[in-house]
Amino acid sequence: MSSVMQNDASYVAGTYKRFPVEIASGKGSELYSPDGKRYIDLGSGIGVTAFGISDGEWKKAVIEQLDLVQHTSNLYYTKPCTELARLLCERTGMKKVFFGNSGAEANECAIKVARKWASENKGEEYYTIITLKNGFHGRTLTTLAATGQDHYHELFQPLTPGFVHAEANDLESVKALLSAHKCAAVMIECIQGEGGVLTLDKDFVKGLSELTRKENVLLIVDEVQTGNGRTGKLYAYMNYGITPDIVSTAKGLGGGLPIGAALLGERVENTLGFGDHGSTFGANPVACAGAVSVLSRIDDALLDEVRLKSEYVFNAFKDVEGVEYLSGMGLMIGIKTVKPASDIVAKCIEKGVLCLTAKDKIRLLPALNIPMELLEEAVKIIKSCISE
Ligand SMILES: *Cc1c(COP(=O)(O)O)cnc(C)c1O
Repeated sequence: MSSVMQNDASYVAGTYKRFPVEIASGKGSELYSPDGKRYIDLGSGIGVTAFGISDGEWKKAVIEQLDLVQHTSNLYYTKPCTELARLLCERTGMKKVFFGNSGAEANECAIKVARKWASENKGEEYYTIITLKNGFHGRTLTTLAATGQDHYHELFQPLTPGFVHAEANDLESVKALLSAHKCAAVMIECIQGEGGVLTLDKDFVKGLSELTRKENVLLIVDEVQTGNGRTGKLYAYMNYGITPDIVSTAKGLGGGLPIGAALLGERVENTLGFGDHGSTFGANPVACAGAVSVLSRIDDALLDEVRLKSEYVFNAFKDVEGVEYLSGMGLMIGIKTVKPASDIVAKCIEKGVLCLTAKDKIRLLPALNIPMELLEEAVKIIKSCISE
């Protein structure tokens, strides 16, 4: 065991089942261990390093901001915060943005907004939020309650009340909960990431959008993992032709620095007032400067590239022995294999490719700009590990 691994075992809370890999540095979609072993990175820090490691443009934006001021608190105005909020609104049609530092915080904000909106517009008893079974919305006590997977809830009771879980892709199940509870909102991921890269049906999402309008509840879309170009559109909901009332996002937005955002649509644009919410670190100027650089580069050409690479991966694993099926969209891809995904991912590590898992699937979340040659090299290695 290296001294790093020893110190980790001695001093770091044991919440992560880490792979036996220490990362010392990287460049683009390649990572290096301290002894120089090279890995092709198909996980991008769980969909975070949208343009890879130490990307030149992103680094320049971050360093320029570091040279100016690294933190101010939200008592003062700063340009990166306002610039990022303007970009997010212009590119989504959303009206206002609240910045936090993570996906869970973005969802906490979305939930607070939904509760306040419902309390003001429908009555205080309308606080229930419907989420989907097998979904994932974060690790705080409230976002855990929103997460429709019982095994996350054990030993942490009582969770925040006011969450019920519907079946994914079953509009009748949502309707039944809407009539059984006094509801504020429905909250979904268009692709359940942690749940196994499960893409929601077009009809279900469209139907949900119409239903929430009709029933006067809000539609919240959790784009923490699916957002920021990941699915081949800027946000995954754009694949479905719907307009959510609230969009939460994080992971890829900062390109590697912690940032989360709740985008507030027309119905809730003025719901938050002075003192209703806040965050000391939120809208950190360095994180925001990095995010402005990330968002500015997710243009039509980049999104076309994401879709092309996606097509390549989907085709490459079609009819491969040992592969049952593929799931997902864009560069958020699940591979269901006959053999256990975790065994294949372990073999891939030995051969220098870093993949993720999600439930019983191999999960790929490469950088949006991963060079085609590296993607091809990695796909070849994964295939060999599947057939071994
Ligand atoms: C990762 C994730 C979260 C939680 O984000 P953190 O930054 O870890 O708090 C929430 N929702 C979805 C869909 C995610 O994938």
